Amino acid sequence: MNITFHVMTGVATAVVLAPIGNSPKWKAAKLLAGFSVGIFLHGVFDYLPHWYPFASGVDLMLAAAMVLAAFGFTDRSEWMLVATCLFGSILPDLIDFGPMMADLLLGLPVPSLPFKVFPWHWEKYSGAIYDGSNATASAVLHISILAVTGLILFLWPALFKKNEDGHKNRK
Ligand SMILES: [Zn+2]
Repeated sequence: MNITFHVMTGVATAVVLAPIGNSPKWKAAKLLAGFSVGIFLHGVFDYLPHWYPFASGVDLMLAAAMVLAAFGFTDRSEWMLVATCLFGSILPDLIDFGPMMADLLLGLPVPSLPFKVFPWHWEKYSGAIYDGSNATASAVLHISILAVTGLILFLWPALFKKNEDGHKNRK
């Protein structure tokens, strides 16, 4: 699936987790949860049938812009959570496709593993479609991700406005 959609789910995960507990224990648990949920959702979305609405260059730019916006609109006290959720949500692609992308887009010869680590990137379990078939299922999936993450961002505005309370609570 395009990285943009993975980034969206990473941001939405951070937004859902942010308001839960603020003690050091809770903070650590939220980082672990955010990272794991990121990897899990990445797997689910890659498994479901999907084509690629964005070419890789456009995809990377959209994803990068979204990452910057996520940090820009988030109080500094939650940056670690945002970073961890985002890291989990794109890690499978970084490991399995990072070297290929670095070579393709930047001409950097990064050595890659001889196999794909994550099963949803194997032909057998990947829902990736390149021949235009299953367009409806793919569109439904993409639109659902957009709708759900959009709704989450809308419902949890606290994290995305630099809120004054955040400064009070910061230690
Ligand atoms: Zn992937």
